Amino acid sequence: MRGSPFVGDALVGGDLPTRPVYQHEEEEPKKDSFCVEADLLIPGRGDPIKNGCIIIEGNKIKDVGTSAQLARPYSHLRKYHVKVLMPGMWDCHIHFIAVQRVAWDAILESTQKMALTGARCAPDLARLLDAGFTSVREMAGFGIQLDQAVEEGSLVGPKIYSSNAIISPTGGHADLHPVPKPWFDDLCAHGSPFQTADGVPECLKVVRMQLRAGARVIKICGSGGVGSELDNPVDQQFSDEEMKAMVDEAARAQRVIGAHCHGKAGIMAALHAGCKTIEHGSYLDEEVADLMIEKDAILVTTRLIVENGLLSKDYFSPVGYAKLLLVAKAQWNAMQIAIRKGVKCAIGTDNAGTLAPGNPMSKLVRQGLNGKELYYHVKAGMTPLQAIEAATANGPLTLGPQGPKAGQLKAGFDADFIGLDANPLDDIQVLSGPEHVTHVWKRGIMYKSPGQPVGLI
Ligand SMILES: [Zn+2]
Repeated sequence: MRGSPFVGDALVGGDLPTRPVYQHEEEEPKKDSFCVEADLLIPGRGDPIKNGCIIIEGNKIKDVGTSAQLARPYSHLRKYHVKVLMPGMWDCHIHFIAVQRVAWDAILESTQKMALTGARCAPDLARLLDAGFTSVREMAGFGIQLDQAVEEGSLVGPKIYSSNAIISPTGGHADLHPVPKPWFDDLCAHGSPFQTADGVPECLKVVRMQLRAGARVIKICGSGGVGSELDNPVDQQFSDEEMKAMVDEAARAQRVIGAHCHGKAGIMAALHAGCKTIEHGSYLDEEVADLMIEKDAILVTTRLIVENGLLSKDYFSPVGYAKLLLVAKAQWNAMQIAIRKGVKCAIGTDNAGTLAPGNPMSKLVRQGLNGKELYYHVKAGMTPLQAIEAATANGPLTLGPQGPKAGQLKAGFDADFIGLDANPLDDIQVLSGPEHVTHVWKRGIMYKSPGQPVGLI
């Protein structure tokens, strides 16, 4: 039966729809096949191929090779040509909450006025796709609802894999400290993507609530944060026991945990508990790097929000800005250590939305400039090829068993790929915005071509 998840012999986590897909019984549509040739093909993992070629069938990549190898067997197919071809990028730490400042009152507004937030997010989705991001991992926000809109065709945007909420202890990073507790609890009960839990039973319940909402990854706070008012980014949040209980509960449902962590104690506790990804990782040192490699954990640094914050003081609350100054230096050091030691990294920006037109900082703080994160990684020690691997092939790894076969130009993988008019191996800033992204295909469908940008709705 089409539309049922119970098709085939085995269910793989990434194949299971998060919501039922209701479809009319109809004939299988004919799969579109075509070929894309490139002067340079960057596969996401492995060496670039000169005069490369990929063959697409439906929403999957069927074959990859050089044009010379593939021209004859596929000579009947329609052909596109691009200068540089690479997989669509992944932003592995993003938020669809459209906050206008990183401050509790702005967060309160965006979680209460959901239609306003949704309206602000809609063009952001198009901006991301236009800039070459075909998938995002949303680490708290309204991504599950927006993904439904994208999947049904109401909006154009990347595939969204969302955690739904961010979870911390009471008084922790996910709490809105100045808001009276009953009001906060009321927000939580009405779909706010900020949740608190205390003690193992509540931790289990709140993880199960995220699964109920359709989360593809679970986001918890291993340490305090920058954007919250009263907690300290250096301090551990959640006890070892609470973290372990949540990791185990998530694992039973084939989910991994991404742990927001700045301070070293929280990072170490999260790694020992079995969290798969460390978000931010500001106080990572040599010992942390060694443990991350031993545990095969992934670092998602999110440097872009730090750099944007340093350039635009008003984007943060006064207390947030003071905390930002503290972690910014440590985090730059941590990134360099992680890269030098060979810690596995994925690209994430912590971008939480485009500022409204008219805001003087809206040209800087906006979705669609997420590729700048690769530039900061290169500046911190990666080669451009490594940064591209972090932004493509490593993306699905941050979802554990929920990760799709995507992020690489490889037979059997999702047909998500982009064309560029300049070589990012010569200058990684080619990927910093939409200007050099000439083509975007997602699941085999072309959304952008020269002179035809992705429409803002
Ligand atoms: Zn974040």
